[in-house]
Amino acid sequence: MNLETEEIIIIGSGPAGLTAALYAARANLNPVLVEGFPPGGQLTLTTDVENFPGFPDGIMGPELMEKFRQQSEKFGTKIINGEVVNVDLNSYPFLVDLESKTQLKTNSLIISTGASSKMLGLKEESLLLGKGVSTCATCDGYFFTDQIVTVVGGGDSAMEEALFLTKFAKKVFLVHRRETFRASKIMLDRARNNPKIEFVLNSQIVQIDDVDQNKVTNAVLKNLTTNKLSDLKTDAVFIAIGHTPNSQLFKDYLDLNSNGYILTKEGTKTNIPGVFACGDVQDWEYRQAITASGTGCMAAIDAERFLANQFE
Ligand code: NAP
Repeated sequence: MNLETEEIIIIGSGPAGLTAALYAARANLNPVLVEGFPPGGQLTLTTDVENFPGFPDGIMGPELMEKFRQQSEKFGTKIINGEVVNVDLNSYPFLVDLESKTQLKTNSLIISTGASSKMLGLKEESLLLGKGVSTCATCDGYFFTDQIVTVVGGGDSAMEEALFLTKFAKKVFLVHRRETFRASKIMLDRARNNPKIEFVLNSQIVQIDDVDQNKVTNAVLKNLTTNKLSDLKTDAVFIAIGHTPNSQLFKDYLDLNSNGYILTKEGTKTNIPGVFACGDVQDWEYRQAITASGTGCMAAIDAERFLANQFE
């Protein structure tokens, strides 16, 4: 039981949360950051980051997040390893319950819980997760060295996953439900120019075999133009179809849009004074490390101003 009231608690340790922590720490607000899972957020599941300014030669995602972490700790951020299981935003100070049964109290709260991978919604998908079905090529690509793998999606994530997988797999199918792509031209061109990648368009995976063998052996494809079914022999299915915001904990308190993203106004303010949201949990538009970082900085400044007005 922790009876002290914190000035700022930050939930989430991706670029948004750790930047908020850095700014809050440098404002002498002694921020407490609950890191959640995975620590460091989605960038820890990626490889080369080539578009974060300041790193002209690129940097690996996990290394970048380690630098963020070190910088925020250097100025006094206290990082708690664990997850938040409940919040009470009707009481003030706000209450934050950790899985360890500790309850924290805070005068302001910054939510930077990010977003999680979307799934196709097939029964086999969860049964075979970690057994050939994956949402992370960086984590699981190595297991499919010299095998055939399939990536689903038509955005930058799908292109990135497919390209990464060519380092291991002998063949990568990229299954997309349309003929046009959300992916940026540069990523799409890289994937198109890679001889190991074969595009399968206007198609949806409707079944993944084989649950009985406890591994992926085949994907059943439906051609969305002809409605014909066909088999695609594959040893793995990597799902890269976007993300769902991690806003469940806050849905009884905060205004969300129809997709579950936290609505913010005047910077990072939510509908509850003293509660701020930044990063991918409130950004369905840009979703970049640099924009998450930027909104993390804004949230810390917004929280600092709120606290100054509250207790002046
Ligand atoms: P995204 O851009 O939203 O693309 C999701 C893709 O999945 C779309 O092609 C979508 O198809 C498809 N999809 C969605 N639900 C599906 C379903 N149920 N079944 C089959 N396909 C489905 O998501 P993202 O690729 O994760 O990218 C998100 C953001 O991160 C973007 O802003 C992107 O630029 C950025 N990003 C950047 C990099 C990089 O620069 N290195 C890497 C990764 C991501 P439709 O097009 O038909 O809707």
